[in-house]
Amino acid sequence: MSLDPETFEALLDAVRRFVAERLRPLEGQVDRDDAVPGEIVREMREMGLFGLSIPEEYGGLGLNMAEEVRVALALGRTTPAFRSVFGTNVGIGSQGLVMAGSDAQKAAWLPRIASGEIVTSFALTEPGAGSDSAAVQTKAVRDGEIYRLSGTKRYITNADQASLFTVMARTGGPGASGVSAFLVPSDLPGLSIGQPEKKMGQQGAHVCDVNFDDVPVPAANRLGPEGEGFKVAMRVLDRGRLHIAAVCVGISERLIADAVAYAGERRQFGKPIAEFQLIQAMIADSKTETMAAKALVLEVAAQKDAGETITMEAAAAKLFASETVGRVADRAVQIFGGAGYIADYGIERLYRDVRLFRIYEGTSQVQQIVIAREVMKRGG
Ligand SMILES: Cc1cc2nc3c(=O)[nH]c(=O)nc-3n(C[C@H](O)[C@H](O)[C@H](O)COP(=O)(O)OP(=O)(O)OC[C@H]3O[C@@H](n4cnc5c(N)ncnc54)[C@H](O)[C@@H]3O)c2cc1C
Repeated sequence: MSLDPETFEALLDAVRRFVAERLRPLEGQVDRDDAVPGEIVREMREMGLFGLSIPEEYGGLGLNMAEEVRVALALGRTTPAFRSVFGTNVGIGSQGLVMAGSDAQKAAWLPRIASGEIVTSFALTEPGAGSDSAAVQTKAVRDGEIYRLSGTKRYITNADQASLFTVMARTGGPGASGVSAFLVPSDLPGLSIGQPEKKMGQQGAHVCDVNFDDVPVPAANRLGPEGEGFKVAMRVLDRGRLHIAAVCVGISERLIADAVAYAGERRQFGKPIAEFQLIQAMIADSKTETMAAKALVLEVAAQKDAGETITMEAAAAKLFASETVGRVADRAVQIFGGAGYIADYGIERLYRDVRLFRIYEGTSQVQQIVIAREVMKRGG
């Protein structure tokens, strides 16, 4: 899957303009109101952003990974809450269906996911199962032509908007091989959504609990065979981690641009602070690390498009890019000085926003564990 180069460049250009002209002016408002305006969501639908990664035969744009990360880099130029509006449809919410769904399941859901008519969420994490995600306790008990789902999922992005959840639930014994994946429509009886959590950053992107109280899910909604759900979830996350790494690089580039502009204007000791080598060192370190992260993201995307397994590579890209954007945001606050701590300048908002990237879709420690395990499996 990929677009012809001319169409893709036109899309990328449209995304860059949308970010610069429509999204950036609204960053402060979205942070204050904790809501993305409806007209912006409509424009995102019209641009096809909900369907970036959905195959063209189901109404999406069918981008390959190299194209998707370039769009993610462009989206990183603004607060990542905007990307979250359609992020689950592009990534963790839809890709289990794309990878493991039957033709009938795909035909039933993907066109509406691609158009943004419906929002999808990915429900793996539970109160007792975070990093140890194979320990999920949500149960799916077979009862004739249905499964009965009971349990609680935690911190589920876009849960309050979602019409469809990809839910990982236990159908068998302990561990990963006892987990199956299900497509669960939000209007089934017994399914309820908690209040959006109050968060540190990325206001406008909501996370909620999702509660299942004996929810009757048709057996036809199982995604792939019983016991394969955890594998599906991990494949979805391989891809998701690379996308997140690209967003981290985009935000790093934005932060560097903002810091350079400020350093050129702000004068102390009779000259712009950009002339001080201690400021230059921070800019140089941020740029170097961001370039390295970008090169890694583009390289891993190419490997994915070549059909290679990228479990280790995507974990490395996510680890490096998310740690990088954390350091770059910290240096940007430092370069802005007191203004870096004051809301009107927007840097403190990005500083809060980027903290999440070291936590979700696997913490930095989980990425280290994945990388070490895969490297040792390959013998170095
Ligand atoms: C805003 C937000 C959005 C989210 N969206 C979703 C979503 O859409 N769907 C979903 O399913 N989940 C989602 N999550 C959940 C997220 O993926 C988890 O929070 C994350 O995986 C960490 O799990 P935990 O919070 O339980 O932390 P824990 O697993 O309790 O980790 C606590 C600390 O212990 C460390 N740790 C744990 N195990 C080890 C180990 N073996 N070795 C070393 N250190 C270890 C961790 O790295 C961390 O530092 C979201 C979370 C947030 C905050």
